[in-house]
Amino acid sequence: MNLYELTAHEAHEKLVKKEVSSVELTRAVLDRIGAVEKDVHAYVTLDEAGALAQAAKVDAMIAEGRPIAPLAGVRGGSKGNISTKGLRTTRCSRSLENFIPIYDAHVIEKLRGDGTVFLGKTNLDEFAMGSTTETSYFGASHNPWALECVPGGSSGGSAAAVVSGEALWTLGSDTGGSIRQPASFCGCVGIKPTYGRVSRYGCVAFASSLDQIGPITKDVADAALVLNTICGRDVHDSTSLDVEVPDFTKALVQDVKGLKIGLPKEFFAGMDEDVKTCVMAAVKKYEELGAEIVDISLPHTEYAVTIYYIIAPAEASANLARFDGVRYGYRNQEATSAPEMTAISRTEGFGAEVRRRIMLGTYVLSSGYYDAYYNKAMQVRTLIRRDFEEAYKKVDVILTPTCPVPTFRYTDKMDPLSIYMLDVTTIPVNMAGLPGISVPCGFAKGKPVGVQLIGKVLDEMTILRAAYTFEQATEFHKQFPRLGGEK
Ligand code: GLN
Repeated sequence: MNLYELTAHEAHEKLVKKEVSSVELTRAVLDRIGAVEKDVHAYVTLDEAGALAQAAKVDAMIAEGRPIAPLAGVRGGSKGNISTKGLRTTRCSRSLENFIPIYDAHVIEKLRGDGTVFLGKTNLDEFAMGSTTETSYFGASHNPWALECVPGGSSGGSAAAVVSGEALWTLGSDTGGSIRQPASFCGCVGIKPTYGRVSRYGCVAFASSLDQIGPITKDVADAALVLNTICGRDVHDSTSLDVEVPDFTKALVQDVKGLKIGLPKEFFAGMDEDVKTCVMAAVKKYEELGAEIVDISLPHTEYAVTIYYIIAPAEASANLARFDGVRYGYRNQEATSAPEMTAISRTEGFGAEVRRRIMLGTYVLSSGYYDAYYNKAMQVRTLIRRDFEEAYKKVDVILTPTCPVPTFRYTDKMDPLSIYMLDVTTIPVNMAGLPGISVPCGFAKGKPVGVQLIGKVLDEMTILRAAYTFEQATEFHKQFPRLGGEK
């Protein structure tokens, strides 16, 4: 097996047993990046020297016989919207093309504390707005399973990096599905923790009531390990929850006997036939493993996408107001007045999708429309949350397709509305602030398909257990795409 194909927990074992050094491991991944990055384009910024220096430190610790944390010396990229001190963090926007943060995001600080090795910053849709990475100012990433297809988004670079062997694992962020959907399109594991489980300090704010950071990994065990490090209260983020953080690796138990799994009928409408076949096979597998399948209804699901495209742009328009050409990033030099400078800087600094959302958001927040749109959307959001609360009186977890379709070709060019509709299965989870995980459950004509498990608030343990049990009973997570002329 190639070193770059290892999971983080496998790599940790090899490091501890001194079968491989952290520098060797890092070099193997850097070589892999050298071989396939031109096809995949998972990264926007690479930090080869920093990664090797960090790896050498971990090797020194091992040589001295000091214990190392489970993620020490084995790491990948973090999404390009999560701040890293001294390392260019662009949010894949022209407006921040050369932005170098002066501090680390909370999650990065915690990971650095564990001795993790940073390889670079992965590609994303500009400001995390999109589902394909096509809105990135630096150009799209490609799906390692089918280079002519999208890797999903917005954390498409993070998912593509994991599956192509350009990282052992990565971080992503999820506002409406951006961890789970690319994990599903690329055939890896992605978990969006409960809203507030992980501090968002240092992660660029898109829609603050929805954003959450989480891991993208090769398997469920790695997801649990990353959560162990990144979860917990942070004084810099008032929405981060002051609750006990369990040891998530305790959820890695193969047992779903008696677990009640709900299938919400609204999530199964309008699905691609091949996706349906894979997801229904997963349902059958759970039944064989002893789970009880229960038909349920989440009646307000049909409104989720509509209200997301009111609430998320509204919050984005407020959050992105700070990019005025004065304090951050790109500034037009020709303007003759301050208002003109701000207006032109924004027009030139932001891409079409970001501008569309700022305009939409400004509109729904303006006086006269606030009650009609924003307030109404917030009321419907409560109805969606209540649907889940009702459902969880009957079931322990909810199972759905992660996305109604598998990855598609760039040339299939979808209009913005059709792309927005793809999030119908992921957005309700953000609306209700729940944890959700996507795990590989098959292939649709050679393209990966993911199944989503949604948990109760703060009940990551149960979805991790259910995901782990399924994963261990199947082989999908062991398959890697062949790239760079590999056999
Ligand atoms: N695809 C969704 C959007 O474009 C979700 C993005 C996200 O989760 N960051 O808004």
